[in-house]
Amino acid sequence: MNPFGSKYKNTLLAALIESNISSWKPQLQFVELAAQQVLYESGDELSCIYFPVTAVVSLLHILENGDSTEIAMTGREGVVGISVFMGNNATPSRGVVQQAGTAYRVNSCFIKEQFAESLVVMQLMLRFTQALISQMSQVGVCNRHHGIEQQLSRWLLFNFDRIDGDHLHITHEQIAHLLGVRREGISRSASDLQKLNLIEYQRGNLHLLDRQGLRAVACECYGVVKQEYARLQANPRSVNTPRDALTRLEHMMSMAGRYLVDVAHGEGRDLNHVLISTFYFLCNCFFIGSHHCLCGF
Ligand SMILES: [Zn+2]
Repeated sequence: MNPFGSKYKNTLLAALIESNISSWKPQLQFVELAAQQVLYESGDELSCIYFPVTAVVSLLHILENGDSTEIAMTGREGVVGISVFMGNNATPSRGVVQQAGTAYRVNSCFIKEQFAESLVVMQLMLRFTQALISQMSQVGVCNRHHGIEQQLSRWLLFNFDRIDGDHLHITHEQIAHLLGVRREGISRSASDLQKLNLIEYQRGNLHLLDRQGLRAVACECYGVVKQEYARLQANPRSVNTPRDALTRLEHMMSMAGRYLVDVAHGEGRDLNHVLISTFYFLCNCFFIGSHHCLCGF
């Protein structure tokens, strides 16, 4: 039995090492990550990547004035440091440990070799990257369109899905910083959730009392992201062969052509959206083997 297959371990790593367990095992360093530990800064070249086990890591976007907002979080379902295998060691985001815990650290050179040599590794990594992109997109929409109480509930559920137990160690100030809103708004919303007996909060300890109740308060974004992760990480051992890829390439060209014709006739959206959607769609079809995505195709 795969020793990493337990629900308490990292599910992406469990699937990856199945491809070549004798090569992977000597590369894994089990490490403790402290709360607020910076794994990498914006612009850093990454020498290693992390597969969280009990830790949760926030990916922060940094503004010129130093302010930052969380754009995604990663826990035991994924990996921190995707820029290593996406062809560029440097990253524009900052990776900070939000919930202390454990992780497996793996050298970047080994990951690059595996990504280049193994179709299984490449597809698993790309599927996770697509799921991460969907989380980032949905968080962007959430921040713009949904109220603080809904955002807070969604954010709490994202966290509780990635940890064991029902306790988070975090202050209102830290949550406000991550969501990019005022602390007063978080305190007010947390107080409302307490009155509904959904959570209990005391001096930096947040206790989940009613997950279903919190789910009812959260916006649709929680379900959308959860569903997308489940879809993309289902059947981790299924691999597209080169013949599959060629068939998809033909289908992709046909679909992309039709879409661009629609755009030319004024039925598309603004140019940025078209470019991003087309790129995302091509990646979906060619590398990942999925013919639909969140961009509306
Ligand atoms: Zn939302």
